[in-house]
Amino acid sequence: MDINFTAEEAAFRDEVRAFLKDKLPEDISRKVKEHKRLGKEDTIRWQKILNEQGWLALHWPKEHGGTGWSPIQKHIFEEECAEAGAPTVLPFGVNMVAPVIIKFGTQEQKDYYLPRILKSEDWWCQGYSEPGAGSDLASLKTRAVREGDHYVVNGQKTWTTLGQHADMIFCLVRTDPDAKKQEGISFLLIDMNTPGITVRPLITLDGEHEVNEVFFDDVKVPVENLVGEENKGWTCAKYLLTFERTGIAGVGQSKAALAHLKQVAAQQISNGRPLIEDPHFRRRLADVEMELMSLEMTNLRTVAAAEAGGVPGAESSFLKIMGTELRQEITHLFRTAAGPYALPFLNEALHDDFDGNYVGPEFAASVSARYFNFRKLSIFGGSNEIQKNIISKMILGL
Ligand SMILES: Cc1cc2nc3c(=O)[nH]c(=O)nc-3n(C[C@H](O)[C@H](O)[C@H](O)COP(=O)(O)OP(=O)(O)OC[C@H]3O[C@@H](n4cnc5c(N)ncnc54)[C@H](O)[C@@H]3O)c2cc1C
Repeated sequence: MDINFTAEEAAFRDEVRAFLKDKLPEDISRKVKEHKRLGKEDTIRWQKILNEQGWLALHWPKEHGGTGWSPIQKHIFEEECAEAGAPTVLPFGVNMVAPVIIKFGTQEQKDYYLPRILKSEDWWCQGYSEPGAGSDLASLKTRAVREGDHYVVNGQKTWTTLGQHADMIFCLVRTDPDAKKQEGISFLLIDMNTPGITVRPLITLDGEHEVNEVFFDDVKVPVENLVGEENKGWTCAKYLLTFERTGIAGVGQSKAALAHLKQVAAQQISNGRPLIEDPHFRRRLADVEMELMSLEMTNLRTVAAAEAGGVPGAESSFLKIMGTELRQEITHLFRTAAGPYALPFLNEALHDDFDGNYVGPEFAASVSARYFNFRKLSIFGGSNEIQKNIISKMILGL
């Protein structure tokens, strides 16, 4: 297997770089680089720019408006976006529900939803988890009972990321309570404006409103919003999860964060000399850098195997664990670099228009919030403990 980039791939990287230089709005990339808050409008503005270029739908087939890119091209693109400070594309519409609609949806569903997703006309959220159904997702209890030409949905979803902005939610619902857990589930597309839906915020450790609880109280959903067959939703659910794990290693983001950390550590003074010269800090930085290089190599090997037609198996679990642990460790080192200035948390300082005084260096204003927020990385998308279970079964045969 060859993990060096070809001349065509190098040329593609140049093309992506030129596009980002030309089209990525400076105010948005500055916010990303300075870890300021991004608003809904920032995400939509960037997605529209990507769509105009035909570069929004990385994982869709070309005939539906996807890029048709190889795994290596997607990897290069994601790496360049992270380096340039481009916002992450909101995954729920483009990368999650759309591939499910393309594979299992009716022609009407494809014709209606896919163009709207490309144009960012609908903001989607994911209604999988429930209290009592997270790692053990198939235990979900939200009920959908068919009554004529619609379903009546009752129940509760939780951890719904950015659901407060959403126009649509894709939901796993139980349509046959008597069947075996996985066999009585269906996949429904639900308009968030339907009467009977209530969204309540869950405030996370960093004081942010990023996740929600969503309650369904006699919500009427037209039968044509069922994707695939009734009671066969588990197949759609699993297919979607393979897309949820794409790009999961976050190598590009970690490389950008590490470069910033080194810059900061060169400026921070500790015991009369730059922090980067402190032997203890230096060793931890070196550990992270070496682990990141080995993660990058493993990621590239997985990408090269995918390019040759292979399907990532336990490797994606390994990439999830390593990638998220590294991103968390980098935020930990940022806190160390900020020293006592990591403690004062001025929420307003994360707004782009903040014109007050920072307590300590500017970079320190966001480090604790990011540190706490990033605890989520090892939980969502399948917790790291569950990934270890997968590895133990698939590789160690336990
Ligand atoms: C910030 C954030 C955003 C999220 N966004 C969404 C979203 O938009 N939509 C959505 O549907 N869901 C979302 N989730 C939910 C996420 O997928 C679940 O939190 C995750 O699947 C874990 O489920 P749980 O929280 O119910 O924990 P549990 O499953 O109760 O697990 C609790 C702990 O026990 C461990 N554990 C559980 N079972 C085992 C086992 N068999 N072996 C070893 N350890 C085990 C887990 O790893 C974890 O550490 C989000 C979660 C977070 C934190």
